[in-house]
Amino acid sequence: MRDKKVEKLIKSEEKRQAKGLELIPSENYVSEDVLKANGSVFTNKYSEGYPGRRYYGGQDFTDAVERLAIERACKLFKCKYANVQPHSGAPANLAVYAALLSPGDTVLGMDLSHGGHLTHGHPMTLPAKIYKFVNYKMKNPDTGEIDYENLRKIALEHKPKIILAGFSAYSRSLNYKKFVEIAREVGAVTMADMAHIAGLIAAGVLRNPFDDGFDIITSTTHKTLRGPRGGIILTREDEEIAKKIDKSIFPGIQGGPHMHTIAAKAVAFGEAMTPKYKAYAKQILKNAKAMAEVFKKNNIRMIGGGTDNHLILVDVFGSLGVTGKEAQTALDEVGITLNMNSIAGDTRKPLDPSGIRFGTPAITTRGFKEKECAYVAELMITVLKNKDDKKIKEAVHKEIKKLAKKFPIPKKFV
Ligand SMILES: *Cc1c(COP(=O)(O)O)cnc(C)c1O
Repeated sequence: MRDKKVEKLIKSEEKRQAKGLELIPSENYVSEDVLKANGSVFTNKYSEGYPGRRYYGGQDFTDAVERLAIERACKLFKCKYANVQPHSGAPANLAVYAALLSPGDTVLGMDLSHGGHLTHGHPMTLPAKIYKFVNYKMKNPDTGEIDYENLRKIALEHKPKIILAGFSAYSRSLNYKKFVEIAREVGAVTMADMAHIAGLIAAGVLRNPFDDGFDIITSTTHKTLRGPRGGIILTREDEEIAKKIDKSIFPGIQGGPHMHTIAAKAVAFGEAMTPKYKAYAKQILKNAKAMAEVFKKNNIRMIGGGTDNHLILVDVFGSLGVTGKEAQTALDEVGITLNMNSIAGDTRKPLDPSGIRFGTPAITTRGFKEKECAYVAELMITVLKNKDDKKIKEAVHKEIKKLAKKFPIPKKFV
């Protein structure tokens, strides 16, 4: 690279990723092939519109690559329509809202402090300024069960146009059938935001909301799905909805699609169809359970009481008197990256909450099995219990470096 300044920063980031353990549940490592497609000459091309209906010439190969991405997405998630153009998860959600709602209409989504995402109605977001968001919660944060009775009550009272299932900090499975039943009762469209768990659904290790009759799924492509940074919107079978969504993405909220990203999405979808990927997804779940088991044995409180997916939410303040920020910093010092997180009923502020959130997608890509994951959990607890002890932290850091060295980030997945 001629730009030495940028080259140096890329190399440094590469080193940082190789040396530490990535436990942020929304992060992963992509294959060499995904990187190659993402860095390809498709980045040079303008292709506003959709395959066969573009506003610029020279679309032979952009059309073909976008069709391939759509075809693979539909096969992978068992649906009729896919829009592969959303730049990321947030615009994908905005596009669905804009496609189906008028200003002032209501969406019923998961409460943010109970696991929902910013894009599900945080007051600072644009959607929250245009539409009305009402929330459902867990019945009991110690089991994680959703309060479906109350969800129905809120739905009957507020008559939402969309009922939204999905989360970024929730470790249990949702009962999609209940969502569909309630939505049919009040005439709402069902939308699942599966940004975090898309890969687990694609591999068939978690339930596909479409199998229970959901209308729409939105997702990112860069979390468990292990593709480039980007978004997708899937429609099970309703052509009217799919058409509205296409118009809502372009020209509604986006201009030219990022064809290099779409090429990389096609590669990632192809990888996700392989038996190797299915084994990877299974291992993500086993690894998360192995970590949860260690926290349970140590009597450390997990929101939801454990995990059915790839992530774990721990009440570090309630269990150990360590704040989320302190925990994040201490673990960062030993080479473990994760994030502080608010928990249900948190009495602390979002910038220094009671919880931490972590998960297994990235370390599973590195080849970690249950044994290594349980060991990492033990090391985490040692650090949390001795956050001011330099010697102990140094010893743990050494172990983490050893693990990172033993499990280099792979470049090929298939
Ligand atoms: C990550 C995430 C998003 C947002 O995705 P971005 O790519 O960061 O815009 C939306 N919804 C959920 C549930 C997420 O976890």
